[in-house]
Amino acid sequence: MKKSKIIEDYDNYVIPNYARNPIVLVKGEGVYVWDEDGKRYLDLFSGWAVSSLGHCHPNVTKATQDQAATLVHVPNIFYSEPQGRLAKYISENSFNGQCFFCNSGAEANEAAIKLARIHSFPKGKYKIITMKDSFHGRTMATVTATAQPKYHRGFAPLVEGFSYVSFNNLGEAEDAVDDKTCGIMLETVQGEGGINVADKDYMTGLRKICDDNDILLILDEVQCGMGRTGKYFAYQHYDITPDIMTLAKALGNGTAVGAMETTKEIAKSLVPGSHASTFGGNPLACATSAAVFETIEAEGLLDKAAKMGDYIFDQLGNMAKELDVIKEVRGIGLMIGIELKIPAAETVKKCSDAGLLLNCTHDTVIRIMPQLNVKQEHIDEGLGILKDILKSV
Ligand SMILES: *Cc1c(COP(=O)(O)O)cnc(C)c1O
Repeated sequence: MKKSKIIEDYDNYVIPNYARNPIVLVKGEGVYVWDEDGKRYLDLFSGWAVSSLGHCHPNVTKATQDQAATLVHVPNIFYSEPQGRLAKYISENSFNGQCFFCNSGAEANEAAIKLARIHSFPKGKYKIITMKDSFHGRTMATVTATAQPKYHRGFAPLVEGFSYVSFNNLGEAEDAVDDKTCGIMLETVQGEGGINVADKDYMTGLRKICDDNDILLILDEVQCGMGRTGKYFAYQHYDITPDIMTLAKALGNGTAVGAMETTKEIAKSLVPGSHASTFGGNPLACATSAAVFETIEAEGLLDKAAKMGDYIFDQLGNMAKELDVIKEVRGIGLMIGIELKIPAAETVKKCSDAGLLLNCTHDTVIRIMPQLNVKQEHIDEGLGILKDILKSV
């Protein structure tokens, strides 16, 4: 089908709630995607860190195909093998908790918020503290948790019981706690907020506030989890564990799946009937996600991501010395933000014209989140294109 016809169908039949580039993508393999004209793009953004093993990784594709030919869906009143296997991978690689499965990041966070409340209900506690510049999703509760006014406009009244404090400011968090607070929720590394990494003291400080006040620490690892930072989960760079953790984006390498993990003790609060998802934990999504874990192990991708992250930070450090337009380079592992002194959208658009996919977030930040198995030659190629464009803006 011709590009103009495809876009016409969107114009006629798809709600225009996204600002789309006029590019129709038709195929992906590894670090590349192709558009309908046959133009190839080097993808160093991985679609918001979703395609973390690269597009159509053969192990993952095979797992999806095999499962699709065996059993796609069973309701959660039965057992199926992939759900248990996936839960075991998440649990054993994190804090030995138990999982609830759903279909997206927002749903995972919605489940976390509901769990924090139902768990604390007998104590009369319901308030949740979240961080400015956070992003937790677009459902009513998760958009309320998202402390960025631009996402709230027009949706009032929001959900009650949320308050907002500055990220990486322990004093503000301490002051915001009262006897009705049941949860403190944050991204270990803020993604949409411009790639902001939580300080070591801040994380241990929040853990202590939670312990001292019988509050649940909820870590949203929807974007920063699944190896993105060079460890399975970003909190593992700190000397703490969360009470609740949420996952989605890279968990299925593109297949829709979300998960919420909590400790076995807290999990007891979600009794039958308290929460549910029709598609959550279906065999197709879980077999696919299990293959993601198996591939991360088989290919040693955590180490590779950490090493390639070091390489990129070295390269960007040099670039920042040469180019005055770069204000700061920050991040961890393969979750990288380059803050410019000017808006970043134009640079990102020029990169895309030149066949390089990156992203602009928080107005002035170029976000780079390559697949975990990205090769140095791809990084060199991509940063070369970026540097030439940055020289010209
Ligand atoms: C993307 C994102 C979400 C929302 O995920 P959806 O799958 O779009 O609902 C939540 N939290 C963080 C940190 C995210 O990056």
